[in-house]
Amino acid sequence: MIKDMILFGKILYEQRLNHSHSGNISIRKGNNILIKRHGAMLGYLTEKDIVHINLHDESKDKLASLEAKVHRAIYLNNPDIKAIAHAHTIYATVISFKNKIIKPIDSEGVFYLPQIPVLSCEQTICSTEVADKIPELISKYKVAIVKTHGTFAGGKTLEEACLYLSVVENASKIIYLNSLQK
Ligand SMILES: [Zn+2]
Repeated sequence: MIKDMILFGKILYEQRLNHSHSGNISIRKGNNILIKRHGAMLGYLTEKDIVHINLHDESKDKLASLEAKVHRAIYLNNPDIKAIAHAHTIYATVISFKNKIIKPIDSEGVFYLPQIPVLSCEQTICSTEVADKIPELISKYKVAIVKTHGTFAGGKTLEEACLYLSVVENASKIIYLNSLQK
């Protein structure tokens, strides 16, 4: 599990889905969550950058990513979700400014994620409102873009969650570039 987190953290960074310090990932493990340490660079994680927190108790979240409450809420809402990935997907975030739902136009985007919801909240980082509203969207659509912030995805594995983040960003990029064509 820790090896997976190191690997996929690196992949998300190398794909330019995150900047040096953005993004976070987690894996559910029984009644615990393994999650990135707050402040750690996702692309260069080591074993000490993975924090164990309780699935039902937030009192020991101090060292964890600021988005731990969002990850926990998604896990508690849907027992089928075993891993979560979050990235500051640039094109998806740009498109989120003017859309409430994104519908991919490329074949792969349509295949994996025919509809990508955009969640608009007052507070977008470390947000109780996001934690309240996003679990339902992730259960239904597998992903959701938090307007002006970035994308969360859930899957049965971390690889699956990371795949969805890549698909969201590719699909958004294609929509954006296509809109520039005459
Ligand atoms: Zn973020």
